[in-house]
Amino acid sequence: MRTLPSRAPSGARPLRIAYGRLFHEANAFSPLPTELEAFERCHLLAGDDLARATTLRGVELRSFMPHAELTGFRQAARVAGGIETVPLESAMAVPGGSMTRACFDTLTARLLERLEAAAPVDGVYLALHGSMQVEGLAEAPEAHLLRRLRGFVGPGVKLAVSYDLHANLSSGLVDPVDVLVAYRTNPHWDLAPTGFRAGRRLIAALRGEIRPVHAWRKLPMILGGGTTIDFVAPMRKIFRAMRALEDDPRVVSASLFMVHPFTSAEPLGWAVHVSTDGDPGLASDLVEALAERALEARHVDLPPMHDPGAASAIARKRPWRMLGPVTFVDVDDVVGAGAPGGNTHLVRALAGAPDLEAYVPVHDPALVAELWDVAAAAPGTRRAVVLRGTPGYGMPEVALEGVVAARATTDSGRVVRFDVGKLHLAVCDRPPLPIHPSFWSAIGLTARRADVIVQKNFFHYRMFYRTISMQHLPVVSAGATSLVDVRRRHGEPARSRGNPGNESAPAFPPA
Ligand SMILES: [Zn+2]
Repeated sequence: MRTLPSRAPSGARPLRIAYGRLFHEANAFSPLPTELEAFERCHLLAGDDLARATTLRGVELRSFMPHAELTGFRQAARVAGGIETVPLESAMAVPGGSMTRACFDTLTARLLERLEAAAPVDGVYLALHGSMQVEGLAEAPEAHLLRRLRGFVGPGVKLAVSYDLHANLSSGLVDPVDVLVAYRTNPHWDLAPTGFRAGRRLIAALRGEIRPVHAWRKLPMILGGGTTIDFVAPMRKIFRAMRALEDDPRVVSASLFMVHPFTSAEPLGWAVHVSTDGDPGLASDLVEALAERALEARHVDLPPMHDPGAASAIARKRPWRMLGPVTFVDVDDVVGAGAPGGNTHLVRALAGAPDLEAYVPVHDPALVAELWDVAAAAPGTRRAVVLRGTPGYGMPEVALEGVVAARATTDSGRVVRFDVGKLHLAVCDRPPLPIHPSFWSAIGLTARRADVIVQKNFFHYRMFYRTISMQHLPVVSAGATSLVDVRRRHGEPARSRGNPGNESAPAFPPA
């Protein structure tokens, strides 16, 4: 779909389109539920505040991305002309455990109340994730929301939805929707262009210039661990083909969904979706062709991963130690994918490697509470403590004797620095996401001086550590983002190039 929609016919009544967002990526294996407070802390805007934030001068997602889907959508409306956009509510929280039912009901009710106040409308656009999970709700939360929304507005109102490309597609996410698009970058930078694409297609549909029909298919595959980047093999070819598909004027949209693997949704897996202009046969044919391409990547191995002992040995042996720290990416406890960050396996391993200067963030709110006042009143105090990690996470307890060195309040909440010889722990009362070296300087440490720094995210930290850390080792630790465990649960071989030892990694208990 290249050129649609046309400009509004002069003198016509403006079309009214309401817009909003309910966006959360759930990790069903985190014991920390996501409550309303997580949205309030991250992003929760409604009405005029939302309208202001989604202009080109506004900031839509504070400290994350100034222009995202809703700004993109409003630009599409501005370019098309003759459109009145009506802000509902927009809610987003950082990835975390499943949402509480109370939180979901509150956010859903508010969205519908605002829609009721906005009525009558011709169309609705929602930015959704597609991998939410809600405690006590068996169906996909997005399906629940869309069913209620469709029931509320009736069949005559056109509904457009954009999903994260990690959505777990199901009929409940497709059937109530007229226009469906998804991100086409991984990691995702195309939030605003995605909203723009959704807006253009919705407006074209409302003006009768296109009649979108859908075909989609689930694929029995789950990948991850750096194998799903859109501009790197094996995915590069598939994304290129998908973009080319949308240049066909008969095609409204083409999407590939590479599922967020850390939920307990069933069935869980990739999916492809194609929407055409009134041609269901073509949509099915193109879905099959796209599915075939995607399935070629099905048996890609996970990248090489190391157990903590092997990673420590590499850090110790590497010849250019003075060139800066080795990063251990704790791939099984990735806070950016919803893990709680309280995995103690790496702490235990590094406590047994006393020759390495190691910086390790770890979530343990009870230990922060125990040491917070000591850190202020008497830094330098020696203490014997027991590190337990995130409550309910089932991590090994680690007894440590060391020094309460410093404290600070950061983006990861309250942080207490506890030194055990050369091992420096940043004990946090919220899931730690120390993607910037300033996290360490806040507690008196210099990132460059470490031999090892543990990270709880895959990619984003690299931007800030480009000149600090040259070597990045994925390390397994049997936590809430263990891809090996996901593949094992779903009957896929847990292969990883160069490390057959992964086969015997301790299995994280299925939720
Ligand atoms: Zn995603």
